[in-house]
Amino acid sequence: MQKGNIGITTENIFPVIKKFLYSDHEIFLREIVSNAVDATQKLKTLAMKGDFKGELGDLTVHVAVDKEAKTLTISDRGIGMTAEEIDKYINQIAFSGANDFLEKYKDDASAIIGHFGLGFYSSFMVADRVDIITRSYRDDAKGVKWTCDGSPAFEIDDCEKADRGTDIVLHISDDCVEFLEKNKIQELLTKYCRFLPIPIAFGKKTEWKDGKQVDTEKDNIVNDTTPLWTKTPSTLKDEDYKKFYRELYPMSDDPLFWIHLNVDYPFNLTGVLYFPRIKSNLDIHRNKIQLYCNQVFVTDQVENIVPDFLTLLHGVIDSPDIPLNVSRSYLQSDSNVKKISSYITKKVSDRLQSIFKADRKDFEQKWDDLKLFIHYGMLSENDFYDKAKTFALFKDVDGKYFTYDEYRDLIKDAQTDKEGNLIYLYATNKDEQYSYIETAKSKGYNVLLLDGQLDTAMVSMLEQKFEKSRFSRVDGDVIDRIIQKDNETKDELPADEAASLTGVFTSELPTMDKTQFHVETAAMGEQATPVVITQSEYMRRMKDASRYQQGMSFYGEMPDMYNLVLNSDHRLVKEVLSDMKSALADKLLPIENELNTLKARHTAIEQDQKDKKPEELTDDDKETMKKCNDDIEAQENARKGVWAEYGKSNPVVAQLIDLALLQNGLLKGEALSKFINRSVDLIK
Ligand code: ADP
Ligand code: MG
Repeated sequence: MQKGNIGITTENIFPVIKKFLYSDHEIFLREIVSNAVDATQKLKTLAMKGDFKGELGDLTVHVAVDKEAKTLTISDRGIGMTAEEIDKYINQIAFSGANDFLEKYKDDASAIIGHFGLGFYSSFMVADRVDIITRSYRDDAKGVKWTCDGSPAFEIDDCEKADRGTDIVLHISDDCVEFLEKNKIQELLTKYCRFLPIPIAFGKKTEWKDGKQVDTEKDNIVNDTTPLWTKTPSTLKDEDYKKFYRELYPMSDDPLFWIHLNVDYPFNLTGVLYFPRIKSNLDIHRNKIQLYCNQVFVTDQVENIVPDFLTLLHGVIDSPDIPLNVSRSYLQSDSNVKKISSYITKKVSDRLQSIFKADRKDFEQKWDDLKLFIHYGMLSENDFYDKAKTFALFKDVDGKYFTYDEYRDLIKDAQTDKEGNLIYLYATNKDEQYSYIETAKSKGYNVLLLDGQLDTAMVSMLEQKFEKSRFSRVDGDVIDRIIQKDNETKDELPADEAASLTGVFTSELPTMDKTQFHVETAAMGEQATPVVITQSEYMRRMKDASRYQQGMSFYGEMPDMYNLVLNSDHRLVKEVLSDMKSALADKLLPIENELNTLKARHTAIEQDQKDKKPEELTDDDKETMKKCNDDIEAQENARKGVWAEYGKSNPVVAQLIDLALLQNGLLKGEALSKFINRSVDLIK
């Protein structure tokens, strides 16, 4: 028997491992099982080259729990180790600056394991003694037993071992007894070893017999040794991809389509990425891309490996060039990882492009599901935008799809305003904005439907990217003011008539919480509705943005501001105007005259005082000015009173306002019931 110390300069590494790696505890199983798989594959390679001439036989790796003995044993029939090899590969872990390194990475378990190649030693996270019982594949090899209790001291001795290969026996420590539970081990094997390339057996397959579950003779194989992504794409059918998807994500709908990744230069990468059908926001991050390294599960936190927008995809990426023990700090700086990321982005855009080209109809059908993902990519990766702009689609309110170029050509003639700006009209809700959409259509305009989660952000971006272009929601203003044309001569009302009309309507506006109206007139044509309510594009966008962005709460606090625009060309508005003119002429005339006089006086006083500095004004001067202002205000109030009185007397005013409110879903409660009663009265 031989005794010795493991070549670690740190006095005792194991308590350190145990402490720092606490959260990642469970990976010990992945490490030990993948070592067994490595040893088995090495033997297969030797056999293939003719360097091993014996029988390979059954190469299944066995995992077994013995609850009484408190052991977990992983056995393989791989190459095994000689005593010298144990010394070289297990005892001599080369350490340099170990303490510094541990200090630096104490929160990053993967970095520690990765750096030291501590795969095997991770077993000491859960075991207080580990035995290696092994026999090399070489003809003359004898059995060797190595034992270590977690201190740097180990023992090594000859032992009887009938068969080639290695048993790793973990004597599970008292605070880790969960790893003696069958279910726990099954769960970990499913998580980490599900697609390992050598069969892994854990216990026996069970069957129902006489009302009980009993073991059968057959090994319970926990893994699929040739998962889909390792196969040649040309041998696979659509159904194979869908089946594999269901295996990965049992509760999900079929994917839209998939990309089979397969590169070997300048790095190695295989995998299958699926475009999921996204039903709701909640679904998005439930299923994740899984990262493998030679079929060993590494992580499903792929944030640093694939660009953000691709984390919306599902599937598997497998690359030996990403180290098994992925550490965050490592990933961010690794150039392979960066290359992988841009490779995947390119693959994804190429694939989308080719589907678009090969089958436009199919692409259009999938667009509604795809667009969240494509928009996300376009917004976050400029390279992706440049590719995607050729196949990204606009959908109009009638459900027709256009590429950006096609759409520009479609609206170019009709929707360019007098300044040469191309105006993209859009609706966010077909029902709520129905009448505005119809009005725009009646002018020969096309209206897009932008009702996706990222459309607001897309609009802002496209306005930057497209030249001389602006987006406006159909209810952003009166349509002729959204797209202003040169040639139209409009019969706008004279200022005093417009003032009276807006004064009367203002007096009849309902008061609503956090809502303000501004009344104005516009000549919109006899066919258009008598009153429309619009909401400024700018304010609406600011308010929308304030919901998602910090530092914009100011806009969120502001009331909703609407414009109530009276169509001065419409019969009903004209009637109100002429009726009002004759009804109010006598009452308004003296007020108007008085106002004119007062305003003239105001101008005169201003003229008089304009050369004086504020401090030179006498109390008298100030008093004169104040009196004039007060008088004007009094007259204006009197005029408001007259308007209000008229507004009350003519039910058409309130009726028109309510109709416009109703059209925008703003008429509710008492106001709605008043409207209904008034409507009934008007019918009589
Ligand atoms: P790595 O797997 O990264 O080389 P490990 O610490 O996991 O590091 O293993 C150290 C070495 O021990 C392996 O490279 C291998 O040579 C040897 N080894 C571990 N487990 C086995 C096994 N089951 N059979 C044969 N050799 C093994
Ligand atoms: Mg290993």
